[in-house]
Amino acid sequence: MQEGAARSVGSEQSRQSQPSQPSQQLAHSSPDPTWVVVGLDNGGTCNNATVLTDSGEFLVDHLVENPSRVNDGPEIAVASLAASLDAIIDLTGVPRTHVRAVGLDTPGPASADGIISSKGATNFSEVGWHGFDFRGALETRIAIPVVYNNDGNAAALYAHHAYYGDRASEHSSVAAIVGTGLGGGVVEAGRIVKGAAGMAGELGHVHIPIEGLLADGQPTPTCNCGFVGDAESVASLSAIERNLLPYWLTQYPGHPLAGVDPRSAARQVRSLAERGDPLAREIFEQQARAIGRLFTIASNFLDPNVYFVGGGVVETAPEFREWFLSRVRASTALRGEQIDVAHFAVVPDLDMAGARGAAIAARAIVIGTTG
Ligand SMILES: [Zn+2]
Repeated sequence: MQEGAARSVGSEQSRQSQPSQPSQQLAHSSPDPTWVVVGLDNGGTCNNATVLTDSGEFLVDHLVENPSRVNDGPEIAVASLAASLDAIIDLTGVPRTHVRAVGLDTPGPASADGIISSKGATNFSEVGWHGFDFRGALETRIAIPVVYNNDGNAAALYAHHAYYGDRASEHSSVAAIVGTGLGGGVVEAGRIVKGAAGMAGELGHVHIPIEGLLADGQPTPTCNCGFVGDAESVASLSAIERNLLPYWLTQYPGHPLAGVDPRSAARQVRSLAERGDPLAREIFEQQARAIGRLFTIASNFLDPNVYFVGGGVVETAPEFREWFLSRVRASTALRGEQIDVAHFAVVPDLDMAGARGAAIAARAIVIGTTG
């Protein structure tokens, strides 16, 4: 997935470490599990960890973070993940021998088995990361089987399981997560669709019909990946900075964002939209249409039960979130039979979704299915 969407999944900037109050940190006080899995979400600044029991209960109900130190290179980052594992085991009081598997998720691009792209990635820019087998290195270090997913896929898997619970394997879903980029994932019968090269669910780089989406005279948007008119070229923070805001500022002379540094201005659009600013609403209307057109494509080759939207665009005041979701729904052209059975929903607990999805994938491996 695009590195940017990964950031939205991690939401490092919004994360707050919690004080140690064990009595409040356990989500459940169920009988001692026979075994557990641990989920480790590796972000640009922090690792977030969780524990999932054999019976499918999370033992942690909030963010538990440690520094990820990815900028210090692979060796130190692997040691930091091992420290995160130790810390979450200590916190929950589960014996280490009970940990059957660890789920790891990181921003991409990486292979289906957790080998970082040979060209590196935003979070893995040091040359030591290029082509690094992150999953394998962690597995060797901790001597516990490690299951890998990219963070968009992990969040999509969590959203699906949170929505359906015990009936997850009977349903399918697609999740579009808007961050710096547009990431997400596809879940079929409760399992992530990874693809042959680990590139399935790269929703941001699916071309969408642009006709009727843009205003008169608005330049055709371009994506960081080199494509013209893909979903991420409209529905992402980088799209606001690169494509949408420069155009819409020409339509609103004297707007407060005129003359503001583009990167800073792009980050202010969401809060302006929440307050009803007309320019900002034009931008999010176009993003909703782009996601709706992406979902229309998904409806024709996947026909999923649920269309999830996640990221900063729905981590907002309820009025704006409902407006945005309703605009996505209105822009998704479903057939009558599909309208009767399809649902639109928000990816929940986004800051914890990566770790939780990684844990769900690990648990699925342990119980003999593929996650
Ligand atoms: Zn693209």
